[in-house]
Amino acid sequence: MNQPDARRRLLGPADVSLEPVGAQEHDRVVDPQDTLEDEVYGASLRPRSFDEYVGQERLVENLRIAIDAAKRRGEPLEHVLFYGPPGLGKTTLAGLIARELGANFRPTSGPTLEKPKDLVGILTSLDVGDVFFVDEIHRLSHVVEEFLYPAMEDFQIDFVVDHGAYAKTLKLPLRRFTLVGATTRAGMITAPLRERFGIVHHLDYYAPAELERIVRHSASVLEVPIDGVAAATIASRSRGTPRVANRLLRRVRDFAQVRGDGRITPAIADEALRREGVDELGLDRLDRAFLRTIVEQYRGGPAGIAAIAATLTEDAETLEDVVEPFLLKEGFVTRTASGRRATALAYSHLGVAGGAPAQERLL
Ligand code: ADP
Repeated sequence: MNQPDARRRLLGPADVSLEPVGAQEHDRVVDPQDTLEDEVYGASLRPRSFDEYVGQERLVENLRIAIDAAKRRGEPLEHVLFYGPPGLGKTTLAGLIARELGANFRPTSGPTLEKPKDLVGILTSLDVGDVFFVDEIHRLSHVVEEFLYPAMEDFQIDFVVDHGAYAKTLKLPLRRFTLVGATTRAGMITAPLRERFGIVHHLDYYAPAELERIVRHSASVLEVPIDGVAAATIASRSRGTPRVANRLLRRVRDFAQVRGDGRITPAIADEALRREGVDELGLDRLDRAFLRTIVEQYRGGPAGIAAIAATLTEDAETLEDVVEPFLLKEGFVTRTASGRRATALAYSHLGVAGGAPAQERLL
């Protein structure tokens, strides 16, 4: 399994792709993960109310009901967990919850909370009803996570003073806050942590029509005129992800200002995105290199993620988190117990003869 075929030995690993692979290319325009540029330019594009928040209707409706009910009872909202791929609006929702509750928003992220003492300062400063947001909550260290349990459940923290026979546990009461956790890896959340969330929601990729609304809205905030067809073009190449839609829009706007008269026409949008290496289905060089690796090096698969990552000199976790989910969703690859397989769609998109159905008949 995962054995390189004879062709690989003949051609060598460098022949993975006929176009620049972009391995180690960490400024992918379609990367759904947050960049500094997104932070700087994205702030003005973030929805400021649930009414401005496009899509995820059922989730928003349920949240609104829960928030209303909590307000009527005069109680803090239950702890909320959001999971789903990056760039779909988890942080935005957490901020909107705080806004809707009229509470403070205290964002942080799993990897920055290294030790329980990093948490103590934040937890003890929270007011009643405040929203404490922990992004990438699956990356909390074990000790920090355990420290969080009594804080979430009983609104107190336990800490041990002294050592050995003199050690004793002190309990420090906290004000009742709401923890909102976000993760791209629901499977990596431990059961005890998961059970402490009263409200759990999955965020789905957005439909093209929803992304088109986001693109049009963002264009109006950025005060850039955009044609309806051009908005649809950008939306359809945004991999179902608002963050990507906004980033593509900014790149197209730059191109329109430099190469055109500032207006985003379908031709300008198409040309700008083509230059960025984003094809008509939203795949970029790294996506195509990923597919090409499976198709050409592993005869369509199955190929293990570690092997693909090694060939592309990419990080396996990055591939699993930000490349593969979209390719799976769009049906370019399938995941089997023995590894990833390229589908017939991948073959036809790459313009390579063969394909999974034919291979499967052979097996
Ligand atoms: P996540 O936390 O899931 O990675 P964010 O909440 O940071 O994603 O969203 C990324 C960007 O995408 C936001 O800055 C916002 O501009 C945009 N965005 C996300 N969700 C929506 C939405 N439902 N409607 C409009 N814009 C959105």
